[in-house]
Amino acid sequence: AGVLEVTNLEAEIDGKRILNGLNLRVNKGEVHAIMGQNGCGKSTFSKVLVGHPDYSVVGGSVGYKGSDLFALEPEERAHAGLFLSFQYPVEIPGVNNTDFLRLACNSRRKALGQPEFDPLEFYGHVAPILEELKIDSKFLNRNVNEGFSGGERKRNEVLQLAVLESDLAILDEIDSGLDIDALREVAEAVNKLKEKRKDMAVVLITHYQRLLDYLEVDFVHIMKKGKVVKTGGPELARELESEGYASIDLEFE
Ligand code: ADP
Ligand code: MG
Ligand code: MG
Repeated sequence: AGVLEVTNLEAEIDGKRILNGLNLRVNKGEVHAIMGQNGCGKSTFSKVLVGHPDYSVVGGSVGYKGSDLFALEPEERAHAGLFLSFQYPVEIPGVNNTDFLRLACNSRRKALGQPEFDPLEFYGHVAPILEELKIDSKFLNRNVNEGFSGGERKRNEVLQLAVLESDLAILDEIDSGLDIDALREVAEAVNKLKEKRKDMAVVLITHYQRLLDYLEVDFVHIMKKGKVVKTGGPELARELESEGYASIDLEFE
């Protein structure tokens, strides 16, 4: 079943066209990588999906789990299981990570008609997740991303995703700024989560092929000037690694 069906999506910022007829279909359980050079519109695409107010959609459509995504408010999209991890996760000084996670989790549970977790119940929900994702329980007692290293911030994003039990995860440059050990830890957390939640669909946005050395993907899409210009399997990423973007024979340019 199609979780995400993007058809001829066009979007602008300040009257400047960024997305130019983007097409993408993601089914339940699939992992897709979207690759492309800086400035091609990858982050714009993710922000348009979650309803960032700076971007206006000027054409095309997006179906999410069979409904019109743009008919939903940004908060309703999150409640419906759409998750975006940020390229630069922000600190929220003075806000405890556990309180933050519980609030986000309860907001979704409430919208789904499920009982909210009290602090003890929430601990019962999050403790096994920490164990499975190999995330230190110290993460819970700290303030949101305060003093976190780049890798810790990215793992905290994966923890949020796991706690929320989202159905579609858009992970924007989850590899950016990380050394190889930190990258491996983040990738391992995503792999563990994916093992547990086989139905979850994932869209990995990345500029670099190296992330795909650690994360298994089903499809690779190359974006250029605001649209997907080539789609293939993991071999497409390896081709990029050795030949660079210029060499890729673009089908729909
Ligand atoms: P990518 O994530 O692929 O590097 P972005 O989606 O961030 O690309 O950017 C696509 C294009 O949109 C770039 O030319 C960028 O300068 C422009 N852009 C993105 N965000 C803004 C913004 N807030 N204001 C003006 N231009 C923007
Ligand atoms: Mg960029
Ligand atoms: Mg970006």
